[in-house]
Amino acid sequence: ESQLNSNYSFDNFLEGESNRLARSAGMAVANKPGGTAFNPLLIYGGVGLGKTHLAHAIGVEIKEKHPEKTVLYISAEVFTQQYVDSVRKQTRNDFIYFYQLIDVLIVDDIQFLSGKSGTQDVFFHIFNYLHQNGKQVILTSDKAPVDMQDIEQRLLSRFKWGLSAEIMHPDFETRVNILKNILYRDGVEMNNDVVEYVAKHVKTNVRELEGAIISLIAQSSFNKKEITVDLAKNVIEKFVKNIRKDISIDYIQKIVSDYFELDIETLCSKSRKRNIVQARQLAMFFAKKYTKSSLANIGSQIGDRDHATVLHACKTVDNLLETDKEFKAHFEDINKKLSM
Ligand code: ADP
Ligand code: MG
Repeated sequence: ESQLNSNYSFDNFLEGESNRLARSAGMAVANKPGGTAFNPLLIYGGVGLGKTHLAHAIGVEIKEKHPEKTVLYISAEVFTQQYVDSVRKQTRNDFIYFYQLIDVLIVDDIQFLSGKSGTQDVFFHIFNYLHQNGKQVILTSDKAPVDMQDIEQRLLSRFKWGLSAEIMHPDFETRVNILKNILYRDGVEMNNDVVEYVAKHVKTNVRELEGAIISLIAQSSFNKKEITVDLAKNVIEKFVKNIRKDISIDYIQKIVSDYFELDIETLCSKSRKRNIVQARQLAMFFAKKYTKSSLANIGSQIGDRDHATVLHACKTVDNLLETDKEFKAHFEDINKKLSM
């Protein structure tokens, strides 16, 4: 069995600036599996941004266009378990042989292989065999190959043979489209103001965006009330608090702007007022400190800046901590709030 989830398709994988490259490379691969330069196709990006969805969509599309091909989707975790089992049962050769018969191999979350040298070794051999025989390999990872830890060099260099395509955080417009698609799918009508409110306030990832709109739909059907912006505010605030258990950029922006009595719009604005600039720089600094987001992502979420601006902000904060006592006190207050 292919293990593909047919609920994940290209049709319901909405396109935006953030995923355009990965999505269109996926399409190209689906049209000509093994016949493009994108072999392997490596899709990488943070959690909840659509890697698994896209990986399935490619497999599903290949099954549709090329029914004769054998396609297998597997998470790196299950692959590892299977391998370990095969060693224990002394069926390692069968394990390898099974994988060599596949035309399109999709391995999700390959960062899971990090530190597992036996599994990496067997995967290396399977990969080489498939690649040499013109078979397609599709991989996903939460990191770019250059940032992967404890993966053998020879494997890393294979990963770079094809195309590495990043899925980034969706912009506002894409978030709105994703929400509208969910509403359409579920046959729910919702005011545009409300949809935009949700898209504006839930920026972490698509999974949380889905969670937010679903809890909003549930609330409204429960209370038999029309969904207004006020109701949305209530629900989303609670929702956003719940996802703050691990510190996100949204949460940092909220804490920093509350601390300086600014609203988030002002924090993210182009204002050059000293206190606002410092608040913004602190938000960027803490986002770098507490989240795994790339500088580019931090910049795009905090006022649509570029990665150089974020880097500069971090350096400025470092300097001010050395030279400005008052600034340092603010810094420590906020840091305390964030780590509560
Ligand atoms: P990842 O594997 O990167 O952690 P997933 O593929 O599991 O993320 O995506 C999380 C959720 O968001 C899934 O329900 C998925 O369908 C949805 N999703 C992600 N990107 C999109 C998109 N571009 N359009 C529609 N839904 C999306
Ligand atoms: Mg995934």
